Parts: sequence; C-alpha cells; structure tokens
Amino acid sequence: MLAKPRPLDRIVDAEAGIAAEAAGLDALLGHLKPIEIIERAARESFRGEVAAVSSFGADSAVLLHMISEIDRSTPVIFLDTGKHFEETLGYRDALVADFGLTDIRVINPDETALERVDPTGQLNETDTDACCNVRKVEPLARGVEPFRAWFTGRKRFQASTRAALPVFEAVGSRIRINPLAHWTTSDQADYMRAHALRENPLVAYGYLSIGCFPCTQPVQPGEDARSGRWAGHAKTECGIHLSGLEKSLTDASL
Ligand code: SF4
Repeated sequence: MLAKPRPLDRIVDAEAGIAAEAAGLDALLGHLKPIEIIERAARESFRGEVAAVSSFGADSAVLLHMISEIDRSTPVIFLDTGKHFEETLGYRDALVADFGLTDIRVINPDETALERVDPTGQLNETDTDACCNVRKVEPLARGVEPFRAWFTGRKRFQASTRAALPVFEAVGSRIRINPLAHWTTSDQADYMRAHALRENPLVAYGYLSIGCFPCTQPVQPGEDARSGRWAGHAKTECGIHLSGLEKSLTDASL
C-alpha cells in the first residue's frame, strides 16, 4: 500500500510547481514593457489574485502610477512599521489621491509580538534583523497571504544583490512580480518627468532609498542608492525580499 503523503511532501510539490510557473511566466512575459507585464498579470495570469506592495519611498510612484492605469482597485499593501518618516506617510496619502487608488491595505506589526520582542520600541538599536522581522517580514507574510502574487517596484540597478533579479520569481507558494526589474535610473527619471509624478519630499534631501527613519540616511553623490539603508551595518535588505519571508509565507499557508 502506498504511504499517505505527508503535509511537507505536498508543500514541496506545490512549491516546485510554483517555481516552474514563475520560470514559465518569466520566459513568456519577462521581456515585455513594465505596463504590459502588469496588464497581463492583473487581467490574465492572476486576475483578482494579485496585490502590490509599496513602501511609498523614493521610487514608488512609477509602479503605482502604472497599476492605476490598469486597475485602480488593485490592492496596495503598505507595511506601517511604526518607524516611518512623517514625510513618507504624507506622501502615501498624496499619491493615493493623485492616482485614485481605492484599496490601500495598511498592515501593522502584531501587537502581542511587538510587546514581547520590542517593548521599548528600541529593538532597532540592538538587533535590526529581529526588528525588521517583527515590523516588516511577518506583517508582509500576513498582508500577501490572501493573494497568489504581488507586484514590487524592485530594479536590478538598485543594488549588487539585485543584479540578477527576474521579473517573475517564486516565493514559497506565491509569485513575486518585478515589472521594472530591467529599468535603469534614466528610465525611472524619464517616466517621472513624462507623467509629472510627485516625488517623495525626502529625495530632495538626498534620501535615494527610503525606509524607517532610524535606519535611513541620505546618500552621498555617486554612492549606491541603497547605501543609506542600515549604513555602517552589513545588512542590506530588511528580509521582506529574502528567504525569511519564504519561511513566514510557508508557515502562514499551512
Ligand atoms: S528598518 Fe530599522 S526600524 Fe525599520 S523595521 Fe528594520 S530595523 Fe526596525
């Protein structure tokens, strides 16, 4: 008699299937223009099952503008870490109004977890990984849990760690879509200008990549845009784009 499949076997099978689906979509659609990728994903491949995740940072306007051109009711997930600049929160509200986005989902850290691991709100000073985990990684896993896929505005030029970024990539049992992966800084600037898009006010002060205020600094001329994030630490990503999220997503989907 055949052994009954264990839950772990089913997860491994499902994830292999998702990886194959992501690779297939990347081969089929990855070369299209970003707005075409968004359109095909939102109207065909993941109709009614796709969200966008936005930090409303330095580069966020382009992706959100394109999404609003395709479907203003696309859910947009914003992780309110409790540590954002006031300017970012104001920018979020202004862009939502500019683009007429109708489904903004603000996800907060889990209060019980926050009380347990960061009761004083100063965890970022001693353990940035644990702080990002409770304020970003776990909340994102919760935010994307209802969807099969989500859009991000990540691009290859932003950091050496993103140099091989695919347009479609598997994350556990879901697919992350990076329609702007192959865009350059000039593509970004040209689009902002052509559509007269509002800029995060912090960009004028040299903040070229914007996250939480305790962990973000202005960037010096000629430096990598993300060099102002966790400056002085080896850390380069908050974890929402790394394997920690895959584990959270796997746990969330059990
Ligand atoms: S970026 Fe800094 S403040 Fe924000 S969650 Fe990560 S460690 Fe905490």
